Amino acid sequence: EATIAVNGLRKRYGRTTALDGMTFTVTPGHVTGFVGPNGSGKSTTMRVVLGLDAADEGDALVGGRPYRSLREPLRHVGALLDAGALQPGRSGRDHLLWLAHSQGLGARRVDRVLGLVGLETAARRRAGGYSLGMRQRLGIAAALLADPPILMLDEPVNGLDPEGIVWIRGLLRSLAAEGRAVLVSSHLMSELQDTAGHLVVVGRGRVVADTGVAELIAAA
Ligand code: ADP
Ligand code: ADP
Repeated sequence: EATIAVNGLRKRYGRTTALDGMTFTVTPGHVTGFVGPNGSGKSTTMRVVLGLDAADEGDALVGGRPYRSLREPLRHVGALLDAGALQPGRSGRDHLLWLAHSQGLGARRVDRVLGLVGLETAARRRAGGYSLGMRQRLGIAAALLADPPILMLDEPVNGLDPEGIVWIRGLLRSLAAEGRAVLVSSHLMSELQDTAGHLVVVGRGRVVADTGVAELIAAA
């Protein structure tokens, strides 16, 4: 069951309410856009789904189970939370080889995902010179390593150039069309409206609209 189910999440940081009853599901076969202004609770929701942060109330399930109860969680969910830290003196490919090794995967899989993100050659250079867009591509490659049925990408378009933005739209659509559940956040509706089949629009820690894009266009 390749779905994410977020049920009534509430979370406060001191006086700040980050999540205020966040509730939605992500189903396979299309890209679900998770759209809302900065600070509306998108990253917090993703961290709670991944068990990196605890909610005060509510729960989040992936494939029907809490993330932390999954055996081999990386085989279920691939996530990009931020363009993560790389050792500047080593190559991006070395970084992925290390991640792959820790998951029992080999160099062939690394080169396959580097191909998917268009970094076959570039990822052999030292990471110290990488642009943000390149680090985003590497982060996406890392999320795809174990070929998981569920993907959760937080602001993956950040730092990509116009060509990269066109590329990532096609990649996300094809990953979803292959039957994956794909949740992609952005603070800009315009980044996702041509890519997402479904939109979960959030503000102040809760869902303000949850609709298929076709229905949205028909209603406009
Ligand atoms: P990101 O990788 O998106 O920057 P962070 O968890 O670092 O994610 O921060 C997300 C948001 O939470 C940001 O708006 C940041 O300012 C805020 N934030 C993070 N840590 C704190 C903190 N300790 N106190 C107040 N706000 C914080
Ligand atoms: P988004 O991803 O939509 O930009 P976030 O989930 O990062 O929103 O943040 C939601 C709210 O929670 C914001 O007000 C943010 O500042 C706050 N917040 C997030 N992480 C922390 C943290 N670690 N400590 C304190 N406040 C935080």
